[in-house]
Amino acid sequence: MKIRLARELQSDSIVDGEGIRTVLWTQGCIHNCLGCHNPDTHSFNAGFLKDVEEIKNELLDLKLQDGITLSGGDPMCQVEACLEIAKFCKSIKLNVWCYTGYTFEQLLAKSKENPNIIELLKNIDVLVDGKFVLEEKSLNLKFKGSKNQRIIDVKKTLKNNKVHLVNKYKTEKKYINTPEQCKYMFV
Ligand code: SF4
Repeated sequence: MKIRLARELQSDSIVDGEGIRTVLWTQGCIHNCLGCHNPDTHSFNAGFLKDVEEIKNELLDLKLQDGITLSGGDPMCQVEACLEIAKFCKSIKLNVWCYTGYTFEQLLAKSKENPNIIELLKNIDVLVDGKFVLEEKSLNLKFKGSKNQRIIDVKKTLKNNKVHLVNKYKTEKKYINTPEQCKYMFV
């Protein structure tokens, strides 16, 4: 199976979720949010195709990473390949964050036609959902660009059938990694 990517895996990010993370930059997004920071990732013809097995091998070689972040682009536009990668990450004890322009509710509705969406959600720990809305933009938000977006605890949300936000990211204070949040940064 192949996935269309905008860039190669980027390790050691501290701005794409909690801790030290490796980012998978998927290529292709339908949302076309005004003010998007990554307009080069919108086209489904740009970027390059990469074998998922090759990505798995690269993930195995990673050192000192807390997790992986599926970003883009919109990972939910390549559900099957992202599912394969997310499952693999969980099997090697990497936690999974995912950014999407869809809302959680929209993904649930879409999963009726494509059950792999719910399977992918089951392999995601934290989902940052919703389009980037320029009028709602704030530089003081943690791990998200605009106030409408939500940082969702997916496990709790699926269990209780009700959206649960990750409590510690509800405030608008700027995010600073602390030793508790980064397993490896301060060793
Ligand atoms: S969903 Fe993300 S990548 Fe897609 S247009 Fe919106 S901000 Fe850009």
